[in-house]
Amino acid sequence: MTVYTERQEELAGVIDFESSKSDWTDWKWHIRNTIKTVSSFEKALGITFSDRERKKHELTLRKFPLGITPYYLSLIDVEDYKNDPVFLQSFPSPKELVIERCDMTDPLHEDEDSPVPGITHRYPDRVLFHVSNLCSMYCRHCTRKRKVGDQDSIPSKSQLEQGIEYIRNTPQVRDVLLSGGDPLMLSDEKLDWLLTQIREIEHVEVVRIGTRMPVVLPYRITDKLVNMLKKHHPLWVNTHFNHPREVTDSSRRALTKLADAGIPLGNQSVLLAGVNDCPRLIKTLNHKLVKSRVRPYYLYQCDLSEGLSHFRTPVGKGIEIMESLRGHTSGFAVPTYVIDAPGGGGKIPVMPNYIISWASNKVVLRNYEGVITTYTEPESYECNYCDRNCTDCNLQLKEDDAEEKAIGVQKLISDWDETLSLTPEDTERMERNSHVA
Ligand SMILES: *Cc1c(COP(=O)(O)O)cnc(C)c1O
Repeated sequence: MTVYTERQEELAGVIDFESSKSDWTDWKWHIRNTIKTVSSFEKALGITFSDRERKKHELTLRKFPLGITPYYLSLIDVEDYKNDPVFLQSFPSPKELVIERCDMTDPLHEDEDSPVPGITHRYPDRVLFHVSNLCSMYCRHCTRKRKVGDQDSIPSKSQLEQGIEYIRNTPQVRDVLLSGGDPLMLSDEKLDWLLTQIREIEHVEVVRIGTRMPVVLPYRITDKLVNMLKKHHPLWVNTHFNHPREVTDSSRRALTKLADAGIPLGNQSVLLAGVNDCPRLIKTLNHKLVKSRVRPYYLYQCDLSEGLSHFRTPVGKGIEIMESLRGHTSGFAVPTYVIDAPGGGGKIPVMPNYIISWASNKVVLRNYEGVITTYTEPESYECNYCDRNCTDCNLQLKEDDAEEKAIGVQKLISDWDETLSLTPEDTERMERNSHVA
């Protein structure tokens, strides 16, 4: 079984004269030989930039670091590299220095919603835990590109312990999402320690790892790693494929190892102008993913982080893609398209409209083919009035009574909350009324 191509063998020799055959599949060799400078990139691919171009690239790198694994580099089509999706995702563009009015350094307020360093606690029952600040490949479209790769923000062991302590002291947290950087940049031993610590916390029901290793360095998924991970079930892994060209034999092998270890796999793509803003391309990608037992989970609208403006598409492009997926292909090949709201609003799903109209007894809907149809509502639905008294409810959930606290629109539609409207606090009318009270 050939594990690498002729192109990869040739590239290995150019990058590291002393490399041997087994080095290519050794993930640590790739980390040691990661391309970090413009000149080593040129040398490896046999490309020569003009002095002006090189200067521009180097200027960009002073703000946002460069890092490309030899493996990911080997996927670049040198003949047409300027349009190559792998090149565009990994090599800096001078456009990264363009700052638009809407750009922000921390659009998702990950630092503001952070009770202790490294933890973002935005949703009621789950936290994002930044356990590494490094990646094997620095995605040009990274939402955290101002921080990731910065040697000064690498979490220390005591910072990780602080994060674990926060989770331990916060019983609402039932889902812990390890992110970074790339959590698989940690050694197997460190990761094993971390997962053991988190698993020991009784209220934590699931742990997820977000990693791009199956895409950019699939050899990181070793038997040793997978044997360690499977001790910590239920463990989920989400990865980040953006283009069908990234689904190679090597990445398939990595995905197979993970899936065979019983780890449910998801994929989070980012919609990127000039890389994957095409309904047919996303469909092909998703078909390749489900063949490797990876469920397309999210399709993200590109964030408002600084340096990403050239990657952003209009939201309409995402809706167009969703329109061409739902109904046209397997339901499990259809991700949820989300906009991660600036200001820490969290992920908001966006979809084409399928409900056309509504009457007291009927809903009018349209399907993916354009058929307009109706669904008649039941005549005798007995509304289950909910006072949150689950112990006595007919539905036999048999759990303690639910908390009476509700938030958002859920609060408006609930039976047990008297709230009639959600009103912004800072309108002039509200200010006038506050004096009366
Ligand atoms: C995305 C995200 C999560 C996880 O969201 P899911 O919709 O459950 O996948 C959790 N916390 C933060 C801060 C996030 O950005």
